[in-house]
Amino acid sequence: MDLRLENKVAVITGGSAGIGEAIARGLAAEGTHLVLCARDEQRLRAVAESIAGVRVLTVPADLAEPGDAERVAAAVEREFGGADILINNAGTGSEEKILTAPDSRWQHYWELHVMAAVRLARAIAPQMKARGGGVILHNASICATQPLGYEPIYNVTKAALVMFSKCLAGELIGDNIRVNAVNPGLVMTGDWVKTAKALTAGTDQTWEQYLQNIAEENAPIGRFATPEEVADFFVFLCSERAAYSVGSTYYVDGGWLKVTT
Ligand code: NDP
Repeated sequence: MDLRLENKVAVITGGSAGIGEAIARGLAAEGTHLVLCARDEQRLRAVAESIAGVRVLTVPADLAEPGDAERVAAAVEREFGGADILINNAGTGSEEKILTAPDSRWQHYWELHVMAAVRLARAIAPQMKARGGGVILHNASICATQPLGYEPIYNVTKAALVMFSKCLAGELIGDNIRVNAVNPGLVMTGDWVKTAKALTAGTDQTWEQYLQNIAEENAPIGRFATPEEVADFFVFLCSERAAYSVGSTYYVDGGWLKVTT
């Protein structure tokens, strides 16, 4: 299937690791030029240098900080004259109790998971409009619908991101900009491995066994997704082959979601 993504320009937040990096590689394989942003400049550069055949711009940015989203958009404008695709992917899990978590913790996740997407939409959608259209995708989480008990702030802010995606879709489809959200389930990325290694250090269980148990307890498919299995879905949604997909939320979760939506 020809996805017709050659010479498009995609901005991917959190493009230096995990799902974001896999989306970057997937789009690069289709001939899409990339703008990758994340905080750790070295890691960002290493990923950029390992991608061949397309132009890759790296923009170190902390998207939880007001001003950084606008800086990213300005860099895109300077380097490429605008973007056709925006993947709001940067994010991370949390762990807290509602009764003891301070306002500052809520505020941080609100900035990272929601306001970064709001600010990037404000700054980049006009570029897309000038280019005749575009695609904006939000990487939320199955937790937006089916919460995990240990991370209420993550659940709440990801739920808000899904609603933002829906509202933005209605506002932008008249400009030929398609907005959708993806809710992944268990995806084998660095955070999971790090946690598993920490929790199994000095025990009889290996970190691989720990993660396998989580997969078997939760996902009917009985395993984690690879980042590429989720990324391929994003790449398809970027394509005009997905032209009628607007304002939706797609689960990629190995059957974990326990209800219909
Ligand atoms: P990783 O930790 O592997 O990668 C996260 C990426 O986001 C990195 O590039 C990181 O770079 C960047 N990032 C984190 N914080 C910021 C920030 N403040 N500003 C800019 N960039 C930032 O995560 P995953 O690939 O696992 O997750 C990606 C997205 O997918 C997240 O939004 C997550 O919530 C979601 N998701 C993940 C699931 C999973 O099982 N892995 C399941 C469901 C959803 P740096 O640290 O250098 O800033």
